[in-house]
Amino acid sequence: MKDYYKILGVSENATQEEIKQAYKKLAMKYHPDRNPGDKQAEEKFKEINEAYSVLSDPEKRKQYDQLRKFGVGAGTGGFQGGFNFEDLFSGFGTGFGEGFNFRVGDSFLEDLLNQFFDRGEFFRRSRRGAVRGEDINIDVEIPFSTAIHGGEIYVDVPKKEVCNVCGGTGAKPGAKISTCPVCGGTGTVSDVRGMFAFSRPCPRCYGRGKIISEVCYNCGGTGQVSTVKKIKIKIPAGIDTGTTLRIRGEGEPGINGGANGDLYVHIKVQDDKFFKRKGNDIYVEIPINIAQAILGSKMRIKTIYGNKVELTIPPGTQNGTTFRLRGLGVITDGFVGDMYVTVKVEIPEKINERQRKLIEEFAKEGNLKY
Ligand SMILES: [Zn+2]
Ligand SMILES: [Zn+2]
Repeated sequence: MKDYYKILGVSENATQEEIKQAYKKLAMKYHPDRNPGDKQAEEKFKEINEAYSVLSDPEKRKQYDQLRKFGVGAGTGGFQGGFNFEDLFSGFGTGFGEGFNFRVGDSFLEDLLNQFFDRGEFFRRSRRGAVRGEDINIDVEIPFSTAIHGGEIYVDVPKKEVCNVCGGTGAKPGAKISTCPVCGGTGTVSDVRGMFAFSRPCPRCYGRGKIISEVCYNCGGTGQVSTVKKIKIKIPAGIDTGTTLRIRGEGEPGINGGANGDLYVHIKVQDDKFFKRKGNDIYVEIPINIAQAILGSKMRIKTIYGNKVELTIPPGTQNGTTFRLRGLGVITDGFVGDMYVTVKVEIPEKINERQRKLIEEFAKEGNLKY
């Protein structure tokens, strides 16, 4: 059982305002936008949100507190492994106090139980309540220029979608769908334990409340089919490696009317042959010949924006000198980077007789030993 108080770092007696403040602080710290590509932060962020969604709602918090008091899973470890409903209810039975009203049909409590026991699969199939679809994570490489200028890309995302033959019901078209005779359509059955009555998902209809005479041939009764969906993704200008984009609702579809999951797109920007990028700054290296280095020159330099700008190489420029071109770097959210141009002086490998004579003369004139 997760300790939501511990997750938010507040005491059990914390006020709603204290819970809200603690949540805000943590949510900001672990927000995916602030921790791009950090899986641990992402998990933490989810946990914080889960804790807050329960503790910020007085009704849910009350139910949660009650569950905590009965010591479900707290330190016993008994529910971690071989779990079944019998164990669950007898376990509860020993700790029950007065006035605790527990019903499995309660979707919030089912959510809590799902989390406590990690019995996701069983509950997900058996319960009638809405279940949010899973999130999908994909890695995508984008061209350097798309990252600079922004644009649109299309990615193929393997995912499930609602079966278009049965519309998600899992029933073959024309099949008889009848009310479950065991639970009478409620999806739950009751057990009486001492003075308490407990309900659990109906074993005959798996909590659906309905019996299907023939399952859908397209999806095998699951109501979902695997597919590959082409999804258009807007790339904001200036995006860099390590950024994660979130596309709402493009994760796995929800079940029983639950919301779709989200799609998380982890961006990797491909390298460019000429331009190197560090943050908002751009670095390039250009070759110049010895005449340009000694005498100075004016050069035309290609920028990331596709135009060319003039760079003045002053006389006597040394190999490895770096020039800064202000404002010609990457633009993101109002931040403008610079462009750094480093010159590499190229020494001719072969010269002819006359050139050799001239260089010798040049050396004598300047008292250069060789
Ligand atoms: Zn189907
Ligand atoms: Zn039933």
